[in-house]
Amino acid sequence: MMGACVLCKEQITNPLGPQRLTEEMTTWLAESRPELITEFKEDATTFLNRKIFTPNDYCIIKGKPMNVCAYCFTEHVFHWLEEQQADAPLMKEYITFFDFDITKQGYVKEYEEKYVQES
Ligand SMILES: [Zn+2]
Repeated sequence: MMGACVLCKEQITNPLGPQRLTEEMTTWLAESRPELITEFKEDATTFLNRKIFTPNDYCIIKGKPMNVCAYCFTEHVFHWLEEQQADAPLMKEYITFFDFDITKQGYVKEYEEKYVQES
């Protein structure tokens, strides 16, 4: 059992954890956009180490990296790339390599609406 994702509360079934994904994304950025690597690592570390508070302000994470599913993590990075003004080709690569949006109703839908031109 890998437990539930602290963000969406779904059971984590994909064995690819955010730490592993961070490594793979770093490898990808090294090829495609090396100037983003430093900031990407900082952002991923901040995201994964932040404390999660319940409505009663009780910290449920005690200094351990966050238990996040592949979907929530790749969604976070998708929006982070947008904040970096990533262009359409880079977003396309990201969706090609890191699509964990199984229902295609989350960030893949957002991607298609924003970056895929109707022809
Ligand atoms: Zn999740």
